[in-house]
Amino acid sequence: MSVYKLVCPHCHGKMRIRTSDGVHIFLRVAYLQCVHEGCGWACRAQFEMTHELSPSGMPNPAIDLPLAPKALRLEARRRPTTDHQMDLTGLE
Ligand SMILES: [Zn+2]
Repeated sequence: MSVYKLVCPHCHGKMRIRTSDGVHIFLRVAYLQCVHEGCGWACRAQFEMTHELSPSGMPNPAIDLPLAPKALRLEARRRPTTDHQMDLTGLE
């Protein structure tokens, strides 16, 4: 499984998601900690779904996320797919 690489801005080491809370269906707050023993920096982060790029094939009528402007949809289409997809399975 590919995992998004969270990099510590201080030591450039890996960061782990210590815990997270769902604030809203589109917003999750995570608490990150650098795993480098000599660093140990910790921070709060947010992961937010902001715009719909492509409609769901199984739409939930309760979900209403604004459609991205055309320029943003085109930009998203141009971006290459990478292996750095975020692994959200460890978030609770
Ligand atoms: Zn660090």
